[in-house]
Amino acid sequence: MIILFNNIDKQIIKKIKEYKDIVIARHIGPDPDAIASEVALRDIIKLNFEDKNVYAIGLGVSKFRFLGTLDKIDDVKKDEALLIILDLPEFGRVDGAEKDEYAYTIKIDHHPCDHQVCDIDLVDDKSSSTCQILASIVFNNDLAMDVTSAENLFTGIVSDSDRFLLSYTSPQTFNIASRLLDDYNLDLTKIYNNLYARPLSERKFESFIINNITITENGFGYIKLTNEDYKKYDVDANTASNMVNDLNHINELKCWAFSSWDEKSKQFRINIRSRDIVINDIASQYNGGGHKFASGARLEKEEDVDKLFKALDERCKESK
Ligand code: AMP
Repeated sequence: MIILFNNIDKQIIKKIKEYKDIVIARHIGPDPDAIASEVALRDIIKLNFEDKNVYAIGLGVSKFRFLGTLDKIDDVKKDEALLIILDLPEFGRVDGAEKDEYAYTIKIDHHPCDHQVCDIDLVDDKSSSTCQILASIVFNNDLAMDVTSAENLFTGIVSDSDRFLLSYTSPQTFNIASRLLDDYNLDLTKIYNNLYARPLSERKFESFIINNITITENGFGYIKLTNEDYKKYDVDANTASNMVNDLNHINELKCWAFSSWDEKSKQFRINIRSRDIVINDIASQYNGGGHKFASGARLEKEEDVDKLFKALDERCKESK
């Protein structure tokens, strides 16, 4: 069972055939789905259409280096090139690309978005991940794929669905994952080790979070992480904010949020999760957005962090 995307995937392939230079971008602060999808799409296009120059761009993240290397685009004539953005709903959080500089733009994403952003948008907000959409496109169109790309797509699906745990996991997710495993004989031990092996200090930091999170009477949990906390446990802000998923399935928590100070951008990075309370409308009022039950925001002032947390607590109260 493969979703047909109303033939938008066919239009995308037609456009890919038309352009010699193709640049693929994704969001800032990338997660494995963002990087795996851009690297896999680059390699799949190169394999199927050999005359293309394809670039996957954006700042690399050392702990996701196992997904592949990224490219520089100094010599690309952008006004003659095709830009494909992955895993983000709008250009606001794109890493290293301006829409107007490119001849033609395409978006492939699984975040909800109610308006057209690129010349072609393929949005499936029922999909667990961008990698799931890409794998569907590959299977739908009988495109060739190497084992490394299949491995990357599987990794993005596993990571964004939180090991098939989150509500976006569907029969389609399992079908695609199963086909990737079967057709490409993937090494699960290697994939899970790359994704989940980590130093003991990170596990200790997780315990610190569990021991120090404040939980309101309405079931809202929050913690403000500081530079001193990171230093003490030898972790960075990025690692800290990725831990927000680990608080799922705690009975006392309906919704929970981390605030992590990001020294580079001089902003508070907010990660919000809930089990079944809608939160993305609140996040979007505070310079953020995301999925119904998994959102984020960036804020400059601590008082705005407090306001956001208060609004989330109110939402928990309303849902009682
Ligand atoms: P995170 O907690 O960083 O994993 O983000 C969860 C979801 O919220 C992802 O789907 C992000 O795309 C989205 N998100 C995070 N930060 C922002 C932001 N500042 N603006 C809009 N969406 C965001």
